[in-house]
Amino acid sequence: MQDANCIFCRIVRGEIPSRKVHEDGEVLAFHDINPLAPVHFLIIPKAHIASMMDLGEQHQDMFGRIMVLAGKLAREQGAGDGFRLIVNTGRVGRQEVDHVHLHIIGGGESLGSMLPRRRS
Ligand code: AMP
Ligand code: ZN
Repeated sequence: MQDANCIFCRIVRGEIPSRKVHEDGEVLAFHDINPLAPVHFLIIPKAHIASMMDLGEQHQDMFGRIMVLAGKLAREQGAGDGFRLIVNTGRVGRQEVDHVHLHIIGGGESLGSMLPRRRS
């Protein structure tokens, strides 16, 4: 369920401090340490699941709850005008922390286009 060296598992265990936005039995949300916008927090399952590609049928209810929480917490945190939900996954997605997490980013001006378009 937990990984001894995973930084987000260590946050779940309270070994590393975090600014919590929400906590319940299976989910934790906390502010990103290096925010990209006025509102930038992360939602994670407390169980160690490495990435979006490691989710299985047994995670459907929990992950569904996370998705429902995302909009509710975004509104509560001051991103009621809209936000972007990002789940970087694997090498191509440039995931840096290998514990699945949703970024909720918003609260200020429009975030601009989704990704820079590559010139062909
Ligand atoms: P990703 O590239 O999607 O894996 O993003 C990892 C995110 O975790 C980055 O936005 C980091 O700023 C954030 N992060 C790393 N360490 C911490 C920490 N101790 N507390 C809060 N956020 C963190
Ligand atoms: Zn972990």
